[in-house]
Amino acid sequence: MAQYDVIVIGAGPGGYVAAIRCAQLGLKTACVEGRDTLGGTCLNVGCIPSKALLHASHQLHEAEHNFARMGLKGKSPSVDWKQMLSYKQEVVDGNTKGIEFLFKKNKIDWLKGWGSIPEAGKVKVGDEVHTAKSIIIASGSEPASLPGIEIDEKTVVSSTGALSLPKVPKTMAVIGAGVIGLEMGSVYARLGTQVTVLEFLDHITPGMDGEVQKQFQKMLKKQGLDFTLGAAVQSVTTDKGKNTVTYKLRKDDSEATLEAEVVLVATGRKPYVAGLGLDSLGIEMTKRGQIAVNSSWETNVPGVYAIGDVIEGPMLAHKAEDEGMAVAECIAGKHGHVNYGVIPGVIYTAPEVASVGATEEALKDEGRAYKVGKFPFMGNARAKAIFQAEGFVKILADKETDRILGAHIIGPGAGDLIHEVCVAMEFGASAQDLALTCHAHPTYSEAVREAALACGDGAIHV
Ligand code: NAD
Repeated sequence: MAQYDVIVIGAGPGGYVAAIRCAQLGLKTACVEGRDTLGGTCLNVGCIPSKALLHASHQLHEAEHNFARMGLKGKSPSVDWKQMLSYKQEVVDGNTKGIEFLFKKNKIDWLKGWGSIPEAGKVKVGDEVHTAKSIIIASGSEPASLPGIEIDEKTVVSSTGALSLPKVPKTMAVIGAGVIGLEMGSVYARLGTQVTVLEFLDHITPGMDGEVQKQFQKMLKKQGLDFTLGAAVQSVTTDKGKNTVTYKLRKDDSEATLEAEVVLVATGRKPYVAGLGLDSLGIEMTKRGQIAVNSSWETNVPGVYAIGDVIEGPMLAHKAEDEGMAVAECIAGKHGHVNYGVIPGVIYTAPEVASVGATEEALKDEGRAYKVGKFPFMGNARAKAIFQAEGFVKILADKETDRILGAHIIGPGAGDLIHEVCVAMEFGASAQDLALTCHAHPTYSEAVREAALACGDGAIHV
């Protein structure tokens, strides 16, 4: 039986970052992980492998659509799916081994197995019970399917199965036009699959800025994805390897069906807390099945903390990472802080979509006086050079003070561009502060500056 200052349960981006920060702060730390590799959902079957497939399929799209006009002639490459999957695995392996290295470097013990908490101060892994002054639950989330749908990870898949299909299907029904549905849907659409997205709401990507939603859907349609909005999926049946999705159109309650070789269920995720023993420990949960925590990420059981997808807030790796660092600081007696108002969200399609802070719809609901600065990538020389000039940057600022309240970007490199607005927001900057900052030419970032200029006296290149 080993004794620790801190035991972290789960080695995803929340857990492994918390463990590293605890160790850096001088705490004797262990991390429990039952998978064969570290990194959790994100590194093994989420963010990282999907980025590899998004990259590879984007290269194919470029070859098929843009090479010839750039003077690159010749046959477009064909898809060697097996090789694409091993490239994806190579990327995953490199990253998960990287975490192993970081654990060794920081002298963190990896307790292999699935952990439970028999009582405060104790973590059981297999037959062994370890003691710790503090326990951090960072066990992440799992796909939330719908009643009437059984995910078999063969032809009715979650994101996990969608990352390892045995072949590129001819047809795919995607249930849910959220982040997973659109990222994976666009991978397969680029590889030649006929993709149909069924979405309950009347728009895609719930929570995003309305103008971005419309532009994004238009661009995805152009890439070949079909959308049926206002479609409440009821069930999926499988017969002789053929899947039939039944849905109701909300506008008139009529029933319709869709046949597809593969069905991707992307209707959200839920906290993964099974087997932790939270009930007998008396851990308080929220109405939505998340672990309730205070502002130091401590549960109602003293010494037991929780971070990431198991608590409230967006289910994002970087939100979990920030909480991981902050909870470690709190446990070490320092001040941990996460600014929940400045957490960016990115969809890694082509083009990328990124946002931070308030949407225009939220500001309207609040009755807040705001102004909008918008700049189309059509006025950005660099975006035009790579045929990605269809999107825009939109900055929302307070009408009186000019303080930046939010930003929404659809266009090349949006997932990186958003961070200059995040930094500006962290410093409480005005749109004018951004507009007065010199931006190198020619870069995509100039579009951000131009949107900031548009909040004031006007953009230049439009
Ligand atoms: P999501 O919540 O983003 O989207 C789910 C969608 O399914 C919604 O649009 C919802 O209206 C729709 N839906 C629900 N029930 C339905 C029904 N019966 N019929 C039709 N549509 C229905 O969920 P997701 O895409 O599964 O992603 C899960 C989580 O993982 C999210 O929190 C997401 O932020 C996170 N994630 C993030 C990234 C990223 O940051 N790039 C990538 C992947 C996943």
